[in-house]
Amino acid sequence: MMSDRLGSLEREAMARLAAVDTEEALARWQRGYLGRHGAVTDAVKAVGTLPPEERPAYGRRANEIKRALEAAYEARAIALEREQEARRLAADALDVTLPSRPAGLGRLHPVTAIMRRMRSAFAQMGFQVYSGREVETEEYNFTLLNMPPYHPARDSHDTFYAAQPGMVLRTHTSPAQVRAMRERGAPLRVVVPGACFRYDQPDASHNFQFHQMEGLAVGRSIRMGDLLGAITGFARQLFGEGAQLRFRAHYFPFTEPSIETDLRCTVCAGAGCRLCKDSGWVETIPGGMVHPEVLRNGGIDPARHTGFAFGAGVDRIAALWYGIPDIRLLLENDVRFLGQF
Ligand SMILES: [Zn+2]
Repeated sequence: MMSDRLGSLEREAMARLAAVDTEEALARWQRGYLGRHGAVTDAVKAVGTLPPEERPAYGRRANEIKRALEAAYEARAIALEREQEARRLAADALDVTLPSRPAGLGRLHPVTAIMRRMRSAFAQMGFQVYSGREVETEEYNFTLLNMPPYHPARDSHDTFYAAQPGMVLRTHTSPAQVRAMRERGAPLRVVVPGACFRYDQPDASHNFQFHQMEGLAVGRSIRMGDLLGAITGFARQLFGEGAQLRFRAHYFPFTEPSIETDLRCTVCAGAGCRLCKDSGWVETIPGGMVHPEVLRNGGIDPARHTGFAFGAGVDRIAALWYGIPDIRLLLENDVRFLGQF
């Protein structure tokens, strides 16, 4: 009777040991059968409760089972460790055929990239690059451009004034017109790329720092048609033959007559969005015929030479070229945004 119970205890313990698959389960099994209060330990101790004639046989059998289970336990512990090691290796396996992580390549900022495209488009029309100054005198920024002190147009340029009297952060690239004319004389064909600053309320199409590419052509018998041709040629060069643009009459103090150029909004394809303020068109390239007074200020005789000028809005052109709905993104310098280009 007692030996039968030992036999079924052994079979049960062996079956459960075979099913053990974690170290915790193995420890539980060990406590349950071989521990101080384990079933097998108790069975061995139970020899004392038997009649004396049964004790030798029972004791032998109980000790055999205890040793067998201890040996099985050791074997299972070793096997389990190997299984776990194998699983760890499989999980940590290094697949050397996987593609490597891309190295963090630097790339051009979209504004820089579009400026280069614009420069090369105008270079093909014979324009040279001329560098203006970001910190300008009020004289060059306003007065020489036909905006004397107290001229109402000055108010429309929300100007950052430098601490030094008479100095401003340029509100447009146009001051370089007079500098280029004074330095180089006529005939002249230059573009002036660079940053400009206005204390503007930022929105999808305005920012307090923005970029312009000024264009200036001075020569004999330059006419309005030449300006429209240059702008149209540039737009087609950048946006393809299908580029849609429209010209509107406008007013600027330093050009007469003046125009505004709108480009079809590429973000919404004309349907209306934040960038184009739901109009389907984006004001991009204001310009006109250089005012005779400005030519004179540049040392050029308006009776002998005429000229056209424009101030292309680089940020808006970049927004249209890349399909960016808000030019403020261009200056936030969020690499998650910039990395897309
Ligand atoms: Zn739009």
